[in-house]
Amino acid sequence: MIQEIRVRGIVQGVGFRPTVYRLAQAWGLRGEVLNDGEGVLIRVVGNQETIGGFLEQLQRDCPPLAQIKTIVSSNLANIPQFTDFTIAPSQQTPIYTNISADAATCELCQADIFNPLSRWYHYPFTNCTHCGPRLSIIQSLPYDRPHTSMAVFPLCGECRREYEDVKSRRFHAQPIACPHCGPGVWLEKGNQVIPHTIPSLCHLLKNGEIVAIKGLGGFHLACNATLEITVQRLRQKKHRDHKPLALMGKNSEMIAQYCHLSPEEIALLNHPAAPIVLLHKKDTLSIAESVAPHLNYWGFMVPYTPLHHLILENLDFPIVLTSGNDADEPQCITNEEAKEQLGDITQYFLLHNRAIINRLDDSVARIVDKKPYLLRRARGYAPTPLSLPQGFENSPRVLAMGGEFKNTFCLLRPGEAILSQHLGDLENTATNISYQQTLNLYLNLFAHQPQIIARDLHPDYLASKLGEAIADNHNLILESIQHHHAHICAVMAENQLPLNHQPLLGIALDGLGYGEDGSLWGGEFLLADYRSFQRLAHWQSVALLGGKQAIYQPWRNTYAHLRRLDTWEQLQRDYADLDIMQFLQGCPQKSLEQMLAKGINSPLASSAGRLFDAVAAALGICREKASYEGQAAIYLEAIAAEYLQSSTVEGYTFDWEQSATLILKADSLWLELLTDLQKGKDLGYIAASFHLGLATAITRTVITLQEKYPFTEVVLTGGVFQNLLLLTQVKERLNEYGFTLLTPSLVPANDGGLSLGQGIIAAARNL
Ligand SMILES: [Zn+2]
Ligand SMILES: [Zn+2]
Repeated sequence: MIQEIRVRGIVQGVGFRPTVYRLAQAWGLRGEVLNDGEGVLIRVVGNQETIGGFLEQLQRDCPPLAQIKTIVSSNLANIPQFTDFTIAPSQQTPIYTNISADAATCELCQADIFNPLSRWYHYPFTNCTHCGPRLSIIQSLPYDRPHTSMAVFPLCGECRREYEDVKSRRFHAQPIACPHCGPGVWLEKGNQVIPHTIPSLCHLLKNGEIVAIKGLGGFHLACNATLEITVQRLRQKKHRDHKPLALMGKNSEMIAQYCHLSPEEIALLNHPAAPIVLLHKKDTLSIAESVAPHLNYWGFMVPYTPLHHLILENLDFPIVLTSGNDADEPQCITNEEAKEQLGDITQYFLLHNRAIINRLDDSVARIVDKKPYLLRRARGYAPTPLSLPQGFENSPRVLAMGGEFKNTFCLLRPGEAILSQHLGDLENTATNISYQQTLNLYLNLFAHQPQIIARDLHPDYLASKLGEAIADNHNLILESIQHHHAHICAVMAENQLPLNHQPLLGIALDGLGYGEDGSLWGGEFLLADYRSFQRLAHWQSVALLGGKQAIYQPWRNTYAHLRRLDTWEQLQRDYADLDIMQFLQGCPQKSLEQMLAKGINSPLASSAGRLFDAVAAALGICREKASYEGQAAIYLEAIAAEYLQSSTVEGYTFDWEQSATLILKADSLWLELLTDLQKGKDLGYIAASFHLGLATAITRTVITLQEKYPFTEVVLTGGVFQNLLLLTQVKERLNEYGFTLLTPSLVPANDGGLSLGQGIIAAARNL
């Protein structure tokens, strides 16, 4: 019999056809395999049992970077003449190409670089079809060597033989290279080359020097993570006050000396995407405290390029490996840029001559309930497509612009979404330029001609303005999408809820997003489907004193919250002894009161994120200054979690007010909290009471709403739900009531996931 087998999923450019070829040979099958617009097509001649065995093994031995979505077999009546099994030329069908993500060095390549007999011995650019650079080196399609930054390195005879040998692991590995024909690395100090590259570099690291290292998707700054003074010097020179620094350890065994590791965490560290994984600190062996001050976790990754392996092999300590940039600028990608921008930080540069075409930050993830929970989706994940749920098979082509912070954009086409890598905050000019470049590149790479532009409702976001301009210039449909609705629908899409799914309750808690009424939202309970939503409940709106300043000066939120309780005079009478009151007294009282009274530069915001800031500042955490959004909340979570390890608490009280919507109020919470401060209660106790009270209040809100609206599913999303303590407490409570909970996994809960939600809503509205 002859069967035609259609394989869909991520099956191109990942060594799928050679695997099919090898297995077909092994099973003695005749036929052919080819790539076409829908994936891979296999035609085989043989008896049913053999074909069955072959297909079973294909799924079992599927190449590591491939992801089979479906395999459909059908019998062919007309039997073509096959004398053997071949890889047939690709069929010219409409471009529907996928590019896989950059992948960490596979085990076989690792063995090659440490094998003195291998021609890849100690070669920092070793790769194969199972690993190596992809998005970081591609300039245009098709994904062939001439369209990558490897074009300038002609293959030597031996590499060409492997490239053309279907039995080789490097068959059609576009970035194949060896010491004879490929790129090289060198170490420089002040434009002078230092001999013995890797040993010299390791020597510098051991001795407390900072070194800039050109990596896969950008430059890193590296130093010995166990030397407190060195890490402090790096922070100071990089103008990075508090944000935790990423670490790299030789392997999970080394990392296990510093962190508690579950099997899922080990698997995630060693996944081909090789993200930074947030892991609970152990008390035993210590890394410099200033790597991640005040936090209970370290962010670790394992080596993901041969160069990293060669360096870490020679070190018996972990290194800091943080993005090579100054303050909030994007990571440098060219040698010249790096020398110019990082010259004040270090004199030592480990450079190479393989150009980085696409900047890719390291991805950041943690394990929640045994599943990955991405906080930043970049290297290793983008641009792997995400399958769209049922009903979106004929989705219109959408370009979704994303938000202002932690920006990503998203391309939707029939059946799938391509979410860009994390690009950063568009307020930063360099980031904004890089956003537009990356956007153009993606539109070209994926031959994407949008019919619809989806953008955030906020008229002043740079991405919103750009979206409007594109829609105007090309006469496209423009959809403006409410921020929190987009957050919720991104989770619905990732969880494969079909197009016409009934409305569910989405809880989106974050910093700020533009609301339909023109005020700022950020603590939202929306009854939502893919097309529309109804705002059922929200946090009480509180003035954002000084607008954006309130994000970076948490005390402003405390002031606004306290003043909702009472007049300044009364607050002073009641709480004069508290140091938060003494602190606030020193603030520009008159102008603050005027701002409040007249609403000058004090927009109202129902923000859950700012409530965390207000509480943290009341406790003296990041009171004057937060160096990044959410810093105060992260510290607050850390002390609460630590307290709860050995004690239990009741949880503070929240109140509700029923108007057109249900309003969740924090008045009682503040009274209880201020009283506890007066009693001199442990700050960990107060932080824990806040978290648990909040989790109970969220649960009670859901139950109250359910009495009137018959939903059974609840989405938990928004940046505030990256707070693991809050997330697990809310999940626990809602589970007890039998709700089905939907959370994000590979799409970040923060604004990094916004564009997927924008795209899917725009598609649904036009289907
Ligand atoms: Zn490999
Ligand atoms: Zn070669």
